[in-house]
Amino acid sequence: MVTVFLGGASYLPRAQFVAGGALVSAGSRLQDHLGAFDLVHEDDITAEQVWQELEAQNALASSVRERLGRHEHHPVVAMLVCMDARLDTNELSGDTRRNTYVIRTAGSVMSPEEEDMLELAVEHGVKVLVVSRHTDCAAEKVARDPAERAKYPALSAAIDEREVRLAEFLARPAIASRVASGELIVKRLLIETGTEHFTELAEGGPGAAAPNVERKAGPP
Ligand SMILES: [Zn+2]
Repeated sequence: MVTVFLGGASYLPRAQFVAGGALVSAGSRLQDHLGAFDLVHEDDITAEQVWQELEAQNALASSVRERLGRHEHHPVVAMLVCMDARLDTNELSGDTRRNTYVIRTAGSVMSPEEEDMLELAVEHGVKVLVVSRHTDCAAEKVARDPAERAKYPALSAAIDEREVRLAEFLARPAIASRVASGELIVKRLLIETGTEHFTELAEGGPGAAAPNVERKAGPP
C-alpha cells in the first residue's frame, strides 16, 4: 500500500524525499527502546551471543533490502566523520539512500590513506566534501588527557596532526585545482552530537584546530 502510494506520487519528489527521511527517523525511534535487539545489552552477554544477534539482524535486514531493491548510486557528497556511534550519517544528511561516500575514523583523523580515499571519491564526481568534528568527542578527550595520551599515543598524535593533514590534503593538485575552479567545495563542520545539527567552522578560527570542543557530559 505504501509502495503504491509513493510510486503514484512521483509528481511530488520533494514530499517523497521528506517522507522517506521521516520514515527512517520513525523507525529509529521505534527501535530505540528495544533493548533485546539493539546489540547494547545491560545484562551480561557473551561475544558469541552478540555476533549471533548481529548475524540474525543482518539476515532479516538484507532479506527486506532484497525485496525492495536498490538504486545505482552516484554520490556527489563525501563526508569525513568521527566513528562515534551516536552519529548517524544518514540522519545527518536526511537521506535514506546512502547517497554519500563516508569515511569514519576516531576524531575524524586522516592519514595519507584517508587522503587517497577522499581524492578517489572526488575523482568519482564528489562536489562537496564535508570534514567534520563533533561535540563531546572521546578521541579529542584522549588527546587532551596526559594519562590517556600515554595509552593511545598514535590516536593522540593523529588528533594533533589533524590540521596539518587537512592542509596537506587540500594542497593536493587534484583537490586544489577543483577548489580553485569551484568544482569542489570543502566544508568544515561541527556536529552537535545530541541533535546532529551542524554548523560551519571558520577555517583556522576558534575551534577549528584545537581539540577543545566539549559542550556537555555524555558517553564517549
Ligand atoms: Zn568523536
